[in-house]
Amino acid sequence: MRRTMVAGNWKMHGSLQTNAELLRALVAAPRATCEVVVCTPFPYLAQAQQLLAGSAVALGAQDCSMHEHGAYTGEVAVGMLTEFGCSHVIVGHSERRAYHAETDAAVAAKAQRALAAGMTPIVCVGETLQQRERGETEAVIGLQLDATLHLLGERLPELVLAYEPVWAIGTGRTATPEQAQQVHAFIRERARHRGADADAVRVLYGGSVKPDNAAELFAQPDIDGGLIGGASLKAADFLAIAGAA
Ligand code: PEP
Repeated sequence: MRRTMVAGNWKMHGSLQTNAELLRALVAAPRATCEVVVCTPFPYLAQAQQLLAGSAVALGAQDCSMHEHGAYTGEVAVGMLTEFGCSHVIVGHSERRAYHAETDAAVAAKAQRALAAGMTPIVCVGETLQQRERGETEAVIGLQLDATLHLLGERLPELVLAYEPVWAIGTGRTATPEQAQQVHAFIRERARHRGADADAVRVLYGGSVKPDNAAELFAQPDIDGGLIGGASLKAADFLAIAGAA
């Protein structure tokens, strides 16, 4: 039985004041049955670590370096993240792939580095609208996944995958539950074919998940929760989504 998860990706949003309000509301809420994670910008990890201490809400980062340490200006090592209580880290978000030219191999290396530090990487994959319209969704996602499957196949149940169609991120346009389920089933099948214990792997859906569409998406057999952007910045919305998971 896979435990559902809802992870909030704050992206480059927040301030000391708004974070405190949001985190206090999450901590004060009744404990969700799913695993709840918030992934804050790096400078706010210390604040979040302090405010989440003793709660059931886990802390994550939005990226990490593929290197252990060294002369990599601007990068953040997994060892630094664990010092701030991070148990999770998003890798390969489409915004990082698009704006920072992250390759599938780099994403896999980051996931490997996170696992080595005892963290849970949340590995994102997803196609653009153009790729979907050209009928390339499975080919694109298959390739994105393969680098991680090749490197970490047998450890796959220790990480979390997230299907995030690029055309649904921050656009208000959500994949239908059927569209999402189809890709999630494909992802699980791909993992199975590459020798992984696919039934144990959690696959989250991300892309304009809101309180009013979450339950229908999470009811799909291969959707194990969500990676939530915009709606994770509002405590009531994020808690409602966690309740749906
Ligand atoms: C995301 O950035 O991971 C995301 C899913 O964003 P949104 O929920 O805002 O579409």
